[in-house]
Amino acid sequence: MSGNGYDFNKILSQRAQNLEASPTFALEKKIDAFDLKLKKEGQFVIRFGIGQPDFNTPENIKDAAKTAIDENKTKYTASTGIRELKSAILEKFRKENDLEYELENIFAGNGAKQVLDVIIRTFINKEDIVLVPVPYWVSYTQQVILSEGKPVFVKCNKDLKIDLNDLEKICIKYGKKIKLIILNSPNNPSGAVYNKSELEAIGKICLKYGIFIISDEVYEKFIYGDVRHYSIASFSEELKEITIIVNAVSKTYSMTGWRIGYCAAAREIINQMAKIQDQASSNPCTPAQWAAVEALAGSQESVNVMKNEYEKRRNYIFQRLCSIKNIKCNLPGGAFYIFPDISGLFNNEIKNSFDFADQLLEKDFVAVVPGAAFGDDRFIRISYAASMNNIKEGIDRFENFCKRIS
Ligand code: PMP
Ligand code: GLU
Repeated sequence: MSGNGYDFNKILSQRAQNLEASPTFALEKKIDAFDLKLKKEGQFVIRFGIGQPDFNTPENIKDAAKTAIDENKTKYTASTGIRELKSAILEKFRKENDLEYELENIFAGNGAKQVLDVIIRTFINKEDIVLVPVPYWVSYTQQVILSEGKPVFVKCNKDLKIDLNDLEKICIKYGKKIKLIILNSPNNPSGAVYNKSELEAIGKICLKYGIFIISDEVYEKFIYGDVRHYSIASFSEELKEITIIVNAVSKTYSMTGWRIGYCAAAREIINQMAKIQDQASSNPCTPAQWAAVEALAGSQESVNVMKNEYEKRRNYIFQRLCSIKNIKCNLPGGAFYIFPDISGLFNNEIKNSFDFADQLLEKDFVAVVPGAAFGDDRFIRISYAASMNNIKEGIDRFENFCKRIS
């Protein structure tokens, strides 16, 4: 019973009460409070927690939003976005992903997260199954639960990519109850990037069992060395029909707060999604849509600058982590995360990834996300969307911490 006399446990829905808070956002809150306290003591937290570019939004994109505001482009638009944005998205898919769509195949929403939620609501009836390969981005499972669906986890292999034998076994076990699988390459949290033959093998299984594919490609621009990004939808007409590609300007153009994400899919899917958007949200912020037009259609110079910087950081951090005793680590092919296996350091006091992340924050003031939040307790996630100075200092602290608990 609360102080004002209402029993909110009874009043509020089970749906809301059973939902887990986003661990990435919860961690940010905790770090903010801790950092405030530390600053008074002349110390500070090195933040490798939430995944968000540390660059400013490029000037040409900010200017486009300012112009839109000055031109009073500040009213409602179609719920699924303005024609100019959809055209820029179409063109992006044509030029960069070898995919032809019509305007009717495009949907723009309030960030990739909200677009994913609408897609899942559009597909999922009570108890329908969504396959979620481990490790997974934090919101997938909770969005499925919010739609009263059932997430079923697919195991990964040593490269932290889908174990095809496990996928096939699960398909045989659950059959027609499976509606969707969520692919994410480049992957958050592991940084793994699927190659063409791996995606083709997954596509073959999905076609065989009639499973639609959500392909979350928000990190597609951040791939390193000779790694290439493939969109599974581009391999055949059949795969295009069953794939919903999700992307956003959030990561690519350092626009996380602008909240513009988008997807491409069969028009029947988009039509149903549009009704949900009409009733639940209306259009994404109008000036932000105009900024996104400039992001997608204007100069791409800033993307290369960010990518080159991330690649330098990835190389540095990988080499440092590999030299620390009892830490195992794959070289991430993309995104801006590295996902070391820290289970070799577990002891009587540090029994899991939550203990590890807690102690690292409290003792050495470094924030990371526990692997358990992504479905695998052996790991922690380090976001290297941080300055090189902070990365150097943070990894020094991390190394000291690991030495002390070894
Ligand atoms: N998918 C993945 C894999 C992510 O890491 C994130 C977080 N940025 C999102 C979707 C959501 O992106 P947005 O900020 O555009 O909602
Ligand atoms: N996607 C980012 C992350 O994984 C941002 C936080 C979130 O959207 O949950 O840290």
